[in-house]
Amino acid sequence: RYDVLIVGAGHGGAQAALMLGQKKFRGTVALRGDEREPPYERPPLSKDYLSGEKTFERILIRPAAFWGERDVALLLDRRVTAVDPAAHTGTLSDESTIGYGTLIWATGGSPRRLSCPGHDLVGVHGVRTRADVDRMMDELPGVTNVVVIGGGYIGLEAAAVLTKFGKKVTVLEALDRVLARVAGEPLSRFYEAEHRAHGVDVRLGAKVDGLVGFQPIGEDEPARVTGVHMADGEVLPAEMVIVGIGIVPAVEPLLAAGAEGGNGVAVDAQCRTSLPDIFAIGDCAAHANDFARGDTIRLESVQNANDQATLVAKTIMGADAVYHAVPWFWSNQYDLRLQTVGLSTGFDQAIVRGTPETRSFSIVYLRDGKVIALDCVNAVKDYVQGKALVVGGIAAPVESLADPAIPLKSLAA
Ligand code: FAD
Repeated sequence: RYDVLIVGAGHGGAQAALMLGQKKFRGTVALRGDEREPPYERPPLSKDYLSGEKTFERILIRPAAFWGERDVALLLDRRVTAVDPAAHTGTLSDESTIGYGTLIWATGGSPRRLSCPGHDLVGVHGVRTRADVDRMMDELPGVTNVVVIGGGYIGLEAAAVLTKFGKKVTVLEALDRVLARVAGEPLSRFYEAEHRAHGVDVRLGAKVDGLVGFQPIGEDEPARVTGVHMADGEVLPAEMVIVGIGIVPAVEPLLAAGAEGGNGVAVDAQCRTSLPDIFAIGDCAAHANDFARGDTIRLESVQNANDQATLVAKTIMGADAVYHAVPWFWSNQYDLRLQTVGLSTGFDQAIVRGTPETRSFSIVYLRDGKVIALDCVNAVKDYVQGKALVVGGIAAPVESLADPAIPLKSLAA
């Protein structure tokens, strides 16, 4: 039995363990993960780990030996499959049980899978873990054509890297623009143009009927993907298909134990679930977010996982704090560094600040005349200074926001 059992050794779980150590928590702490590796950073998986610019050792959150030195029991390679809130125990995939005083559920999610025929062919990949990306990298030498299904950040980042490798990449987006769920139209159009300029075939309003494969005759090998069958009859050649259509939060054991939730597990302002002594943090935690007008959302970002982990560690140590962190996020594609602050969903005006043609500009999102978010492309200053506008919900004149010669910090006062 551990005083604090953290389930999920990813960003949120690692940060919770780090913060408990930093706050001098005196009890026993275990970090229980289902992957083989010690906690590592996930964002590089579709960026500089995939491109080979960073080795796996360089994306570890702490060196492997660190956890033992800090008295965190790092337990890997087993899933928690069930939770008994009354007994304060979890059941593991090897049928053993593990007891806890307080449970922190930090399990993230797994890539949403396609439901069409061929979705399970060899060569079809989700991008969530190191193992996923290592499998992709192993296959890449034999691949000429890659089809990316889903024009979200992960799909676009992977497309950028694989294009650089000389692969022929097609991005299929079902909606009428990429990044439709997370950004305004000017940003979508900018990224579509960038990808096309780099040779990516970006197709919007694309409907996939199924994936087609090849079954080696007389061989004991599984069928491999060879193409993507479009609804209009076209078959796109593809020796590799990357599916980036979102995640399914990994909350089944908690819901089965009676926790409130559905799309994620419901948590309050201190990240407590409806079950006693069980917190949930990170991608799997559905919380009311002040920057989303109090709507209940799940945020899929390192910032959110780290901030919720920090809050829970403080709460366990007796502090009386609530979650009120300004959301931020980044994405690297080609030589473009996008940094976002705030949440743009629900905006009623999007102001372009600067000229996208210069490849350094920002988009300022307003609702009811107040700044709610910024997307900054190669515009670090706007990102740094714009945060205060979002936090303060500042109403600034549109002409000033649109003029890059006027520093955003001068509008924050
Ligand atoms: P995770 O980091 O996913 O950790 C959850 C861990 O729990 C995993 O190891 C999982 O295998 C494990 N687990 C699941 N179920 C169980 C179980 N039952 N028992 C035991 N263990 C379990 N965010 C950004 O802010 N910026 C970016 O640029 C960015 N890029 C990204 C690129 C990629 C390719 C991906 C996949 C994500 C990216 N993200 C980015 C999102 C960010 O990585 C996540 O928001 C963050 O990892 C969430 O942390 P978490 O602790 O909630 O989940």
